[in-house]
Amino acid sequence: MVEVPLPELRSGIGVDVHPIEAGRECWVAGLLWPGVDGCEGHSDGDVAAHALCDALLSAAGLGDLGSVFGTSDPRWAGASGATLLTEVARLVAGDGWSISNAAVQVIGNDPKLAPRRLEAQNVLSEVVGAPVSVAATTTDGLGLTGRGEGRAAIATALLTRG
Ligand code: MG
Repeated sequence: MVEVPLPELRSGIGVDVHPIEAGRECWVAGLLWPGVDGCEGHSDGDVAAHALCDALLSAAGLGDLGSVFGTSDPRWAGASGATLLTEVARLVAGDGWSISNAAVQVIGNDPKLAPRRLEAQNVLSEVVGAPVSVAATTTDGLGLTGRGEGRAAIATALLTRG
């Protein structure tokens, strides 16, 4: 029997939370959500994109958003989630990894992702260069997301070597 070597696999996890800021543009999962309050933050506050960045960096063992971009670095002030995710995908590929897939779940009262879920998946998959699935949930009124004080996201990613 021929032994086929298994590819080298690495999983990663990322979490992000931002406070909601009344009147700020809302960017979530690479999309602009008109009529929804956005998130405070050094960049555009896209919790889904940021969680995905951290999941990819985690899987590659390359640190996290804070260590790679630095919140004091003016080059990344106001950077879109898609810009950060593009750069992270480039770093991960540069370290010899292929992105197999990634998944992100947004946690909060709004925006209601369901009607634009496929659009978000398409945008994020295009940026990452691999399938990205997008889902959403609420916390049934509990905690900072349930009270509408903040928005959160959790993401995973799987990398293969080569
Ligand atoms: Mg963030």
